[in-house]
Amino acid sequence: MTSKFTYQCSDCGKLIPAGEIVYLCPDCSAKQSPDQPPLGVLKVIYDYRTLSELSFRELEENNFLHLLPVNDRKSFPNLRVGQTPLYKINSINGQSNDFELYLKDDSQNPSFSFKDRASAVVSAFAKENGIDTIVAASTGNAGSSLAGMCAAQGQKAVIFVPSTAPKAKLTQIMMYGATLVPVAGNYDKAFDLSIEATKRFGWYNRNTAFNPFTIEGKKTVSFELYSQLKEQIPDYVFVPVGDGVIISGVYKGFEDLLELGIIEKMPIIIAVQAARSSNLVDNIGKEEFVSTPSNTIADSISVDIPRNFHMAAGYITKYHGQTITVSDDDILTASSILAKNTGIFTEPAAAAAFAGFLDYKNRYLIPKASTNVVLLTGSGLKDLNAVQSLFEIPLPVSPDMHSVEQFLNGKI
Ligand SMILES: *Cc1c(COP(=O)(O)O)cnc(C)c1O
Repeated sequence: MTSKFTYQCSDCGKLIPAGEIVYLCPDCSAKQSPDQPPLGVLKVIYDYRTLSELSFRELEENNFLHLLPVNDRKSFPNLRVGQTPLYKINSINGQSNDFELYLKDDSQNPSFSFKDRASAVVSAFAKENGIDTIVAASTGNAGSSLAGMCAAQGQKAVIFVPSTAPKAKLTQIMMYGATLVPVAGNYDKAFDLSIEATKRFGWYNRNTAFNPFTIEGKKTVSFELYSQLKEQIPDYVFVPVGDGVIISGVYKGFEDLLELGIIEKMPIIIAVQAARSSNLVDNIGKEEFVSTPSNTIADSISVDIPRNFHMAAGYITKYHGQTITVSDDDILTASSILAKNTGIFTEPAAAAAFAGFLDYKNRYLIPKASTNVVLLTGSGLKDLNAVQSLFEIPLPVSPDMHSVEQFLNGKI
């Protein structure tokens, strides 16, 4: 059977037929040096010429299966993955916007993060190919997401995480019934171990950027944005960046639409990193990749060696994307502004994207009447510790009205 897709190496451009499971381009990954971003990440390409006969509506009615490595809708977990709300926000801190601001709330996914988009596609592919054990290394969200999707599908999940991952994420992994392997080391160590274990035990691996379908799953957000904006592309999309897979997915989704002739140009995508973990944006265009140890409160985007550096940097360069870094203080402030103005409480990594947006707004870089989207990638309940410095939970009040009056004095 011929497959509906082909792999293409994002570094050397070589085409690799779909069929057996491939992760990286064998030629490029053989040239890998230690402590450098992976070479040979594969891009999945489709028969765009034939598919261009279909309208966006037709693609959407078929759940975009023409553009995914999955054949049957029923192979997906029976949970609502993606199809997240896009909220229009008219004002911030009492000041009306003279542009359009939309928040894409991906904390509304089943495991409360954007990662479900990738895990669902990987899990569906596994189901169609008779695979029952999937392994992932994760800073927390990818692991809790895969654990949840596998629970919904009756598959086994083995999750490698740094033992310092936030407790809520570890708890999710345990509750979904996955095998949790906390590693006394950082994410990079967990990543390498998970790949060794994949080889040793013959499992299927979902690691971000290592498994090319993670990018395919993440691209679905762009199809949804195009649909929710009534078949228009936004002018700007603010994306939080760690390994660079979400941003590559956002680009890939719009690029698929470009290849199909559905859209004529790409939106401007703004890569937002934490200043204390900016290895992706700092190395774009550099001769040699140099990693600085990361230590931001935004654990989901705290990455020393971005796993999809080359593809993300390539997209940002090709499509004139922009980059910005935000301090941990800015992230916390943005998190609070977001929660108080919109009722959406996100984890720091997602608040980073909003901090990037606020910085653009404060520097008058958002053109009047432009359409802006901020991707909110994870729920605030996943990391309660991160925001503890913002407030103190009040001491208990004696259960009488007088004490309540005293307590409220000056507060409301
Ligand atoms: C994983 C993650 C990101 C960053 O995605 P990358 O693909 O690593 O760049 C951002 N926000 C949240 C909540 C995440 O879980």
